Amino acid sequence: MIQINAHYLKLKASYLFSEIGKRVEAYQQQHPDAPVIRLGIGDVTRALPDACIHAFHQAIDEMAEDRSFRGYGPEEGYAFLREAIAENDFKARGADIGADEIFVSDGAKCDTGNIQEIFDINTRIAIPDPVYPAYLDTNVMAGRTGAYHDGRYEGIVYLNGNAENGFIPDLPAEPVDLIYLCFPNNPTGATITKDQLKQWVDYAAANKAIILFDAAYEAFIRDDSLPHSIYEIDGARDVAIEFRSFSKTAGFTGTRCAYTVVPKSLMAYTATGEAHSVHGLWNRRHSTKFNGVSYPVQRAAEAVYSTAGKAQMQELVNYYMENAALIRKEMQALGHTLIGGENSPYIWVATGADSWSFFDMLLENAGVVCTPGAGFGTCGEGYIRISAFNSHENVTAAMSRIRQALKS
Ligand code: PLP
Repeated sequence: MIQINAHYLKLKASYLFSEIGKRVEAYQQQHPDAPVIRLGIGDVTRALPDACIHAFHQAIDEMAEDRSFRGYGPEEGYAFLREAIAENDFKARGADIGADEIFVSDGAKCDTGNIQEIFDINTRIAIPDPVYPAYLDTNVMAGRTGAYHDGRYEGIVYLNGNAENGFIPDLPAEPVDLIYLCFPNNPTGATITKDQLKQWVDYAAANKAIILFDAAYEAFIRDDSLPHSIYEIDGARDVAIEFRSFSKTAGFTGTRCAYTVVPKSLMAYTATGEAHSVHGLWNRRHSTKFNGVSYPVQRAAEAVYSTAGKAQMQELVNYYMENAALIRKEMQALGHTLIGGENSPYIWVATGADSWSFFDMLLENAGVVCTPGAGFGTCGEGYIRISAFNSHENVTAAMSRIRQALKS
């Protein structure tokens, strides 16, 4: 008899975005003439930068000729892209990361989800609450947790984010081996300073732990004092893996390109304390289970680092950040406390009510879709996430509808 992986049955019955989808569909069936404005799921709405499109077309033309056609590429990515990444995203910021420490992939979701499989099943894991759900669910699927009760899985060390700590969790009170951090944060939009991040790096070094640092939103940082990469912090090369994505930065959500940095000096241990290179393990995993990102997509990603590409990417980011500023201004004027939206595309708004009721109220009375904070963890209760990824017109219209709904 074929048996399923029973750990899948522990997963919460409804995934956040499918539940939102169901409620929006029900609303639309009842109000077929009332257009909904979606500020919920964090998907970009604007076209790829011209520089990327141009490079994409050129690469496709190369694929059309036998003499320039390319078949399988290197699993870890073409050197042209890895070198551009190392130079622009790391060396230019004083972070000592080489092209051979970069693994190009088709998404930060896959990488943040897959990375856990190179660590022992009994690894003690610290996960923030609220959190981007993939970190938690992939550990549940792997069997690292017990059952789900009252919004939490047994066997996970939760790092609480709340108004008191500004959604920057405190160091864990009990020992952990693997720590997930995401800054600028999804869902809260919180950012971490270099001094705060240094405390995590020091904790990891003292405890032989590893930090999984998700920097998918670094391009939205405006404040020059904030770190874009964990490798801007001394000692991070020996304790951290970093995840990046072109999805939000350059509009690649549908095109798919991301990368993971695993420094060669990063070690993990056997039960008897023998050190092994994590880079070697990830390389083995990546080349066994992944066959590389398509050549045209990698050329399109490389174009993000051209002079024109950089300017166009900045223009995209600025566009969404103008939306973020408007959302912040309007929600504050309505008396809501909030964080985020200054160095991130997400605004985390205290609702003063339970978050699913507030979600339902905004949908019903304003036709606006947000994301209920409770879907990201128990500490998200009482909050909603509003995303700045939409057109100026839609965000302006959504804010005007919300103003009317909340005032009436
Ligand atoms: N990490 C975070 C924090 C995200 O919010 C997202 C997407 O929303 C991802 C990773 C996934 O990015 P990608 O599109 O590269 O899979």
